[in-house]
Amino acid sequence: MRRRLELIRVARSMLVISAHAADFVWRASGAVALHTGVGGEAAVVSLSYGERGESGSLWRRPGQTIEAVRRIRREEAEAAASILGAAFIPLDLGDYPLAVDEEASGRLVEIFIETAPDILLIHAPEDPFNPDHPVASEASRRARLLAMGAGGAPAAFPTIPPPMMYAFEPHQPDLCRFEPDTFLDITPVWAVKEKALQAMGAQAFLREHYTERARQRAFQSRYAGAGSEVEYVEAFQRLTPEMRSAL
Ligand SMILES: [Zn+2]
Repeated sequence: MRRRLELIRVARSMLVISAHAADFVWRASGAVALHTGVGGEAAVVSLSYGERGESGSLWRRPGQTIEAVRRIRREEAEAAASILGAAFIPLDLGDYPLAVDEEASGRLVEIFIETAPDILLIHAPEDPFNPDHPVASEASRRARLLAMGAGGAPAAFPTIPPPMMYAFEPHQPDLCRFEPDTFLDITPVWAVKEKALQAMGAQAFLREHYTERARQRAFQSRYAGAGSEVEYVEAFQRLTPEMRSAL
């Protein structure tokens, strides 16, 4: 029985959808590293490079161009995804504002069909301080529904089983109505996450911020039963009901 469960776990597929090139690194890279560390497959879709609104220090360089920022952000995010063992799929839709038109939405649905994820990690539905994150969240949820069809009923197009969907933690969680209900112990892969954080050179100021966040979440998770050996945690909020065979 145990062997069967292990095989099921190894076969799982994870899809992460990030509005900008770095969002997945701060908020979900521990989850990705844990997943690929046991043989799971993972892909990260970056809807934009965050070249206009989230490229931090790159815009302080004299003579900077949008093309150069886009290239650097792509290289950084590709490097981070590679460290995590994940495929990186950039859609280059532009940011601030991010817009997901029907063509891009169709591409997103294709990616769902191609990757058939068991686990989907997306932005939280609300973010009053970021114009692009809720757009990415809505586009991700819509693409998931389009790829699923009507919950197991036959359809005129290829469909996938419903992936379990979680929101990863927003930058200002308490102002985004983010209520974490899932604490993930990423201590075993913290060194991998640190490397991925270091790959995002343009927003180096956020490394310390998200290291502290992971420590705070570890402390909070003690109320959910974690021991002192749990040093780093990523928080998630389930957006779909969970199917269990026993409680
Ligand atoms: Zn972002």
